[in-house]
Amino acid sequence: MNPRIDINLAKLKYNSNLIVEKANRFSIDVAAVTKGFCGNPVIAEAIAEGGVKYLADSRLENLLKMQHIKLEKILLRLPMLSQVKEVVKYADISLNSELETIVALNEAAKEQNKTHKIILMLDLGDLREGIFDEKELDAVIKYLLKLNNIDLVGIGTNLTCFGGVIPTKENLGELINSAKRVEETMGKPLDIISGGNSSSFYLINNSEIPPEVNHLRFGEAILLGTESTYGRDIPEAYQDTFKLVAEIIEIKTKPSVPIGEIGRDAFGNVPTFEDKGLMKRAILAVGKQDISTHTIIPCDKEAEVLGGSSDHLLMDLTHCKKDYRVGDEMIFNLTYGSMLALMTSEYVHKNYINSIE
Ligand SMILES: *Cc1c(COP(=O)(O)O)cnc(C)c1O
Repeated sequence: MNPRIDINLAKLKYNSNLIVEKANRFSIDVAAVTKGFCGNPVIAEAIAEGGVKYLADSRLENLLKMQHIKLEKILLRLPMLSQVKEVVKYADISLNSELETIVALNEAAKEQNKTHKIILMLDLGDLREGIFDEKELDAVIKYLLKLNNIDLVGIGTNLTCFGGVIPTKENLGELINSAKRVEETMGKPLDIISGGNSSSFYLINNSEIPPEVNHLRFGEAILLGTESTYGRDIPEAYQDTFKLVAEIIEIKTKPSVPIGEIGRDAFGNVPTFEDKGLMKRAILAVGKQDISTHTIIPCDKEAEVLGGSSDHLLMDLTHCKKDYRVGDEMIFNLTYGSMLALMTSEYVHKNYINSIE
């Protein structure tokens, strides 16, 4: 069925296992981040088989789909005040930075006769979530110790997400200093020091990860075998885990520049065109509803993506050696954004592949 996303479960399990083994060498536990594939339970199972210790997602709806998998679940996005009951019910651990929310989680946990675990997030300069001010941190910790149904299990940070700040020995050193202060106030050690996402992977590869960091949250590294900091491939990992397959519905020779006065396109932008003379143009049945404006990379290196509208993808096949016909499939490698969009689109068939080839 087309369009479809081919999902190689064997490669995903392999990547998961590879990352777990590399992390374990530094006594680091791995939380597999499942939001890139909407918490799809089939994929989550394959990744769980790779040996990760936790499943982590930013959305409760996704954690709900994976409840049958017997691993601790972490909610990555700070909980909404309006959702604290469900958070306590479906997540074992949540990441937090707002005392008001933690107090509400405590109340919800009390009602459900539970203890809810939290990891307190510190902002080391990337300016997304986390406590920024040291005094606020001290005050929050003192208050937290009075809450009977909240268990502060760790502290963590998130980098290279909003501000693009790269994790280093120096900024993770600040996290460790804060952890030590928290441990002094608590009078006991923290279980978890969570040193970031896939952008921290390069520190493992270079053996530069501070020894106190014992927990990392990996999405992209497992899913696409890439390391987000420098955009490099992780050696030995598979990058071709997810592929888009779309079908040609028209193929014709036409000019490269539209004919007539140019107004706005379907999305309100005024398009510009380079005159390359006549082109062998193909239309594929997939569009911006499924891939948004995210990058897809044709496996046929001579093919070029021209653009698209909601339901159509336009390609220049002028330089292709292969003689494409209507009904032929074209295959694309994906980036994180296009994987996420295709997994989210209900119009894209999900096709599972169980062998490495
Ligand atoms: C998305 C997310 C991750 C995973 O990021 P990757 O770059 O895909 O590894 C980790 N932690 C938090 C808080 C996230 O929101």
